[in-house]
Amino acid sequence: MQLYNTLTQQKDEFKTHTPGKVGMYTCGPTVYHFAHIGNLRSYIMEDVLEKYLRYAGYDVKRVMNITDVGHLASDADTGEDKMLKGAKREHKTVMEIAKFYTDAFFADCKKLNIKTPDVVEPATNCIPEFIHMIETLLEKGYAYQAGENIYFDTSKLKDYYVFGSHNVEDLAVGVRDSVEEDANKRNKSDFVLWFTKSKFEDQALKWDSPWGVGYPGWHIECSSISLKHLGEYCDLHCGGVDNIFPHHTNEIAQSEAYLGHAWCPQWFHVAHLNTTGGKMSKSKGEFLTVSLLEEKGYDPLAYRFFCLQSHYRKPLLFSWEALDNAVSAYTKLRSRTSALKNEGDVNEAELAPLRAAFKEAMDNDLNTSLGVTAVYDVLKANLSDAAKRTLIAEFDSVLSLNLLEPIETAAAPQDNELTAWVEERIAARLAAKKAKDYATADAIRNELSARGVTIKDTKDGTTWSL
Ligand code: AMP
Ligand code: ZN
Repeated sequence: MQLYNTLTQQKDEFKTHTPGKVGMYTCGPTVYHFAHIGNLRSYIMEDVLEKYLRYAGYDVKRVMNITDVGHLASDADTGEDKMLKGAKREHKTVMEIAKFYTDAFFADCKKLNIKTPDVVEPATNCIPEFIHMIETLLEKGYAYQAGENIYFDTSKLKDYYVFGSHNVEDLAVGVRDSVEEDANKRNKSDFVLWFTKSKFEDQALKWDSPWGVGYPGWHIECSSISLKHLGEYCDLHCGGVDNIFPHHTNEIAQSEAYLGHAWCPQWFHVAHLNTTGGKMSKSKGEFLTVSLLEEKGYDPLAYRFFCLQSHYRKPLLFSWEALDNAVSAYTKLRSRTSALKNEGDVNEAELAPLRAAFKEAMDNDLNTSLGVTAVYDVLKANLSDAAKRTLIAEFDSVLSLNLLEPIETAAAPQDNELTAWVEERIAARLAAKKAKDYATADAIRNELSARGVTIKDTKDGTTWSL
């Protein structure tokens, strides 16, 4: 499989340290608010990657952290603590906020068919491991104490900016906070490993440490949690592109300084979901959630389909029109795939070329839109329904679009006006049928159909879809 590697800035042949096994690490959510559908774009694409590696025969161990401490408003260690901000906003404790939004995150993942990683580890579970790692970095001379905080000394590294491709905007994350520049830092790019004397007197979660009571910086958690569960070598590390700098750059710095050898050779980054106003972001306050999509009548899986239609390395522009188009294509596709009967012969030799087309798409830097095209090609192929079902079930073990399940409820958007009108018409049709006025009932069905609404009579009543 060829996968783009942010570290080498090219597509590399995917390799692992132990043949057949993949140690995969994913940066998890900061649980101070709901995940927005931009965050979830990253998790959907990482889920497809994990499932495709399994499909290709790898034994994958996937680890994800939950950031419930230490992530400040700016990735460059300044600003307010995000968890504290969430707790203040909702008049709850930090741990209540963490529990609520962790549960909400996994509920969203479930709706999007995102598998829960094999290991999910909240940062607050691993304080002794962080302290141990920081102590070792101090012993080895890669860290220093200043103003009672512990910092990583980036000048001790030959090459701190390992990703090479930092653009001006990226670097600005590290320097734009010069207004409140931390005078303790020896170098501008140094970062906090442990906050002891912090500006947050009201920091809710604090732990004892060799340097006094305090709490960890954000970056140390991912290095430490990866080492805890995947050992000295990680095969594949994932996140959104905003994680490249400073978060992943810092993770590499501290992990390799601690280990004394190279750590993770393959870095997978998902481009952002943008709105016309720019990157969708939690801190801006206005963002779209899975629940909001559902309230508007969208099936979360239609959003998954929308994401799979684009390449993960291209920024994806969200608009309601674009989502509506995805809904319409998804609904049509799923109604065709789920209608396949389990009938006819399955001839393995006939499946091979279609299977190869799917593999070729996914082996080429996870080209999910061609992976979806492979499903359409199966539908068009001269094969029995049973053979088509076999292939689609296989591909769907990676795409996770529930392609073989009939759509029960409308997966299409129902703006309020349309919904009210459809419901009124359905009630009128029912009344006509009760009155044995079948001509009126049929006329109403035609009227609905003319506006693209299909109705279905079931034993529990009439359902409709667009
Ligand atoms: P956070 O909860 O802020 O720590 O972010 C969780 C994940 O979502 C990280 O991997 C981010 O890189 C990623 N992310 C943040 N914003 C976006 C976006 N607009 N589109 C795609 N991924 C994003
Ligand atoms: Zn991380």
